[in-house]
Amino acid sequence: MIPARRPPLGPQLESLLLEAGGRLRASRAAAALTGAGLSVESGIPPFRADVGLWDRYDPLEYGTLEAFERDPARVWMMLRELSVALRGARPNSGHEALAQLESVGILSCVVTQNIDGLHQEAGSRRVVELHGSWRTMTCTRCRRSIGSSKVPLTDLPPRCACSGVLKPDVTLFGEIIPAHVIDAAWQAVRSCDCLLVVGTSAEVSPASSLPQAARDAGACVIEINIDCTALDDAVVDLRLQGPAGVILPRLVEAVGAPREN
Ligand code: NAD
Ligand code: ZN
Repeated sequence: MIPARRPPLGPQLESLLLEAGGRLRASRAAAALTGAGLSVESGIPPFRADVGLWDRYDPLEYGTLEAFERDPARVWMMLRELSVALRGARPNSGHEALAQLESVGILSCVVTQNIDGLHQEAGSRRVVELHGSWRTMTCTRCRRSIGSSKVPLTDLPPRCACSGVLKPDVTLFGEIIPAHVIDAAWQAVRSCDCLLVVGTSAEVSPASSLPQAARDAGACVIEINIDCTALDDAVVDLRLQGPAGVILPRLVEAVGAPREN
């Protein structure tokens, strides 16, 4: 069979890819920090898009714990729209490439800000979900946990059998991230020698501090994004500019054959 031809990425990007591939191949333990941009090609809009969901619902207004406690039905209007995108989404070639890097022993962990569960669906096994997960919800009254796919979103807010309001297990702005999750994220970036920073604007704390922490611990930081971000050249060693679903599979190719353990 003749392999499908992929469009060339330009000599500069091709050479950066080779360099990044070499760094990954030589690394002892690489990690990835991912954000909403990675799931854009799965049909989930990022927060900082000019159009779509976040045009109508400012996440800083609708996505806070305080707003949820004050008026859960109002916040659930936004969450219901988000759930439509999340429920239909499938992992893209970027998620699959990261899972592949884990399966060949190069990537030791993915720290994600995403709540969509697409890393696990793609086959990644060591995933730290910094902002929780959409896949389950918890009753704010009796603390019962329930699979999100079982919760009808016809009447808002959705309620538990005890009539308490259900809240998805995602971290809203103003909500505290559990200590064991933060610890796992710091441990992952401090112990890696190469960090891929994929599809994140690096504007939401604490994720925004993780690339610097990796760099301070001596890691090579490789950024993959379609755009410029808040991370400056003092933090990032290599920038691969382009969609994650295109760049990451090419990066896997550039890494070459799996290492022998
Ligand atoms: P963000 O929306 O702030 O930034 C997205 C970044 O991705 C931008 O830098 C953008 O240039 C880049 N990007 C867009 N399309 C891309 C592509 N195809 N390939 C590579 N890069 C691309 O997202 P964030 O930094 O993750 O932080 C904001 C918050 O958004 C997080 O708290 C996260 O929990 C939440 N969020 C998650 C999802 C999800 O689970 N998929 C969706 C929306 C928002
Ligand atoms: Zn309940």
